Amino acid sequence: MDCIFCKIAAKEAKSSVVLENERFIVIKDINPQAPEHMLVITKEHFTTLLDCADKGLLGDMLLMAKEAAKKAGIDESGFRSVINTNEEGGQTVLHLHMHILGGRPLTGRMG
Ligand code: 5GP
Ligand code: ZN
Repeated sequence: MDCIFCKIAAKEAKSSVVLENERFIVIKDINPQAPEHMLVITKEHFTTLLDCADKGLLGDMLLMAKEAAKKAGIDESGFRSVINTNEEGGQTVLHLHMHILGGRPLTGRMG
């Protein structure tokens, strides 16, 4: 499958890896929208959040987001965790991932 995040998870494409375990890889976003902008990517391919019903995996994704925020030193100052879904949700890469943004006051309102 021609999926950039599958390739990154398989180390067939380059990325800056922040954290990794058996189910996720956390990388720095190539086009950061804040001083810290990371992506928690599932190693298994799910096209969108709608395609994943694995409660354990989805819960672990949030735990991974917390760990990444701690590692980046933005846990105490604050951060935002976002999953964009489908076109109007702003999803551009069709492989489930969560954004973690921080490192400055995030002033944008939801939507
Ligand atoms: P989405 O718009 O799907 O929620 O988020 C996709 C994110 O992936 C964007 O913030 C974009 O900058 C990032 N991105 C797209 N391609 C690559 C890539 O090849 N490497 C990295 N590190 N980030 C990518
Ligand atoms: Zn994929």
